[in-house]
Amino acid sequence: MDFYPVVIEKLIEEFAKLPGIGYKTAQRLTLHVLNLPQEEVREFAKALIDARGTIKYCSVCGNFTDKDPCAICSNPNRDKSIICVVEQPKDIIAMEKVREYNGLYHVLHGNISPMAGRGPGDIKLRELVSRMNGDVKEVIAATNPNIEGEATAMYISKILKPLGVKVTRIAHGIPVGGDLEYADEVTLSKAMEGRKEI
Ligand SMILES: [Zn+2]
Repeated sequence: MDFYPVVIEKLIEEFAKLPGIGYKTAQRLTLHVLNLPQEEVREFAKALIDARGTIKYCSVCGNFTDKDPCAICSNPNRDKSIICVVEQPKDIIAMEKVREYNGLYHVLHGNISPMAGRGPGDIKLRELVSRMNGDVKEVIAATNPNIEGEATAMYISKILKPLGVKVTRIAHGIPVGGDLEYADEVTLSKAMEGRKEI
């Protein structure tokens, strides 16, 4: 066990709270920060506070944004008849790299997982249903290709079909158990092209 001054120990603890950062890495990052010029540290701290303070969720689609509605929802050139449903905001970034897609998005902020005790009420499904205003002709279930993502896609189909909306599922170019954000652009583009009605 190492013994650092309390302020250093505190910084290590804060770094270690970040996803994927263990104690050793946190230690390394802390020592790195201690060697930076004061000005750079101030910039870093300011960037953290500014990002957290400015960014909110779009009240329409649930994406990260600094203005509400977000740039995608308020873009008059986007096709409002099609909504691509994803689990997390980071999936939108993956989809946007597939430049052919010009519709809207909806972020569920999670998935349905009976195993983890997460039901339909725990994700933004009510918000999705409320967007079915007659203009929306197709909803693409672009949830991840794993058990939870499939269960979520099936549920979306079940609740939207009675409303006369076509629900499609992206094709399996994406490896099963994989994550949308790690799919390359060509794979994702093919997955979108090959989507099937569910
Ligand atoms: Zn939006």
